[in-house]
Amino acid sequence: MDTTSFLKKTIDGVTQVEPALTPPTTDAAETTFAKKPKLGTRKSRKREIPEGLWTKCPSCEAMIFDKELDENLKICPKCEHHFPIGARERIHSLVETCSFEEMDAAMASVDVLGFKGVSTYKSKLDALKKKSTLKDAVITGISKMGAHTVALGVMDFGFLGGSMGSVVGEKLTRLIERGTEGGWPVIIISTSGGARMYEGMFSLMQMAKTSAALAYHAQKKLPYISILVNPDYAGVMASYASLGDLILAEPKAMIGFAGPRVIKDTTQAELPPGFQTSEFLLDHGLIDAIVHRKEMKAQLEKYLDYFAAGQKNVG
Ligand SMILES: [Zn+2]
Repeated sequence: MDTTSFLKKTIDGVTQVEPALTPPTTDAAETTFAKKPKLGTRKSRKREIPEGLWTKCPSCEAMIFDKELDENLKICPKCEHHFPIGARERIHSLVETCSFEEMDAAMASVDVLGFKGVSTYKSKLDALKKKSTLKDAVITGISKMGAHTVALGVMDFGFLGGSMGSVVGEKLTRLIERGTEGGWPVIIISTSGGARMYEGMFSLMQMAKTSAALAYHAQKKLPYISILVNPDYAGVMASYASLGDLILAEPKAMIGFAGPRVIKDTTQAELPPGFQTSEFLLDHGLIDAIVHRKEMKAQLEKYLDYFAAGQKNVG
């Protein structure tokens, strides 16, 4: 669409020289409102803004052009806030071009318990499969990262909050086992609200299953790198996400078992500032490093080089 005409029409008095590069800041918008307090003007402005063109950064409140956000790996160009990014986009940013061979792409969840709530599990799954290219909350596969072959699993929070049900557990277990057979490092990028309630006990069993597969992988002295991205909680954090030989996190990710509100209500204690953020966890020794999304590929290659050199020395 023609953004120039859209901006001229909707924000009177603001001359747009390069609208695609300089989106209106909140301040500019406020100034416009202050000059034009008529209700009618505000109404028409609201009507004419098409959805999905701009995104407001929750951290610095800047208005970011969506295309710019996409091209910047979903990182705010003003304050470096890391927005959620889809699993496929993330894989694309990490592996060598065309090297990713997806595993179990067709594996999909079934409603084993016949779960009924406000809406059924089946209707939720059907709607999500229609809306996205995902079959479940994780994509797994073997790929090249620099000179190394790795078994890579990437979760997607957009699919039922990245919750771990039977499919997430099974796909990750198969990935880890394939990594063990191939003698390859395993890298899992986790973002999740925890176990999938719709699958009850079957979800909880995935915690033990994935952890056991990782134990066999570790017995072969193969490295496992766990990367935590916002948000990462509960059953996922309490199983494979916290078992990395190396645990990395993106900046300012929220990471924990129970959420801060639950902890505060239960303990009645005042929580320290920055509680459950990557920075807080790094200070307290739970994670090993915080890595910016744009530096992740280069950093991972460096760690993989280091592990490979170590394995040669041991072998
Ligand atoms: Zn920002």
